[in-house]
Amino acid sequence: ANQPIITFHDGHSIPQVGLGVWQTPQDIAAPTVRKALEAGYRHIDTASGYDNEEGVGEGVRSSGLDRKDVFITTKLRNTDQGYDSTMRAFEGSLKKLGTEYVDLYLIHWPSPHRGLYRETWKAFVKIRAEGRARSIGVSNFYPDHLDHIIGDTGVVPVINQIELHPDFQQKAAQDAHRKLNIVTESWSPLGQGKFIANPVVGEIAKKHGKTPAQVIIRWHIDTGLVVIPKSVTPSRIEENFQVFDFKLDAEDMAAIAKLDDRNARMGPEPYTAT
Ligand code: NAD
Repeated sequence: ANQPIITFHDGHSIPQVGLGVWQTPQDIAAPTVRKALEAGYRHIDTASGYDNEEGVGEGVRSSGLDRKDVFITTKLRNTDQGYDSTMRAFEGSLKKLGTEYVDLYLIHWPSPHRGLYRETWKAFVKIRAEGRARSIGVSNFYPDHLDHIIGDTGVVPVINQIELHPDFQQKAAQDAHRKLNIVTESWSPLGQGKFIANPVVGEIAKKHGKTPAQVIIRWHIDTGLVVIPKSVTPSRIEENFQVFDFKLDAEDMAAIAKLDDRNARMGPEPYTAT
């Protein structure tokens, strides 16, 4: 089955399932990315802060695929926020990735105490105008942060990548994004792997003859989210991509809807994260 694609308000599109490479060391990133591309993935999610952009670039080149056939996201490190430092940091990311453009560039965190995300977004708008990032977006932004950058520039991020898993569904954020035509992207979609053991998910998996990880990834897809499960294990990389031959039914979706718990955040709180 073909993999689903989501189109942004700027006209570009993103493969709905990508490979996350947080905590994937530089030397492991290249074979991991190559493996994912062999398995059919066409979307890789990295960040300057993951310290593996060289490995990611090497993995993409070694796959033999055309650059235009792979969607690469990277993110600006919080300590590089500010107009000029963003320009320099972006240049550094392109060099490390060994590419002339990225498909998507994200502000990794608003890091409000720095007071720099608004200036940073102006640099992002410039980078996009130059064509060096096809699309620009944000990560871990709350609606008030979105309002500020949109008010300053008139440019709406195409995506907001936020922590989102079946027990932390972020419905208010999803609604706010929908009103602004911003796509919601789920990070830690498997709850860092810990949510795979959930018994409700286990039952649904049995019913479909699928694994719990596949059910969770399918839930993100059927909810309209972009999803970037992480694995460095070849068999799991394959497993996490074998999700286009089944669909969750209304009963499954209703059962998972009940798992939402607004206290289930695993990562940092974006208002205070530095
Ligand atoms: P995840 O929810 O994708 O879970 C990954 C873990 O789940 C793996 O390390 C492994 O232990 C387990 N796992 C994966 N596939 C499995 C399978 N098929 N069966 C059993 N176990 C399996 O966690 P994540 O890495 O935190 O998030 C995914 C990606 O999201 C990251 O790699 C990164 O790209 C992105 N991310 C972004 C931010 C941000 O601030 N923007 C923060 C965290 C993560």
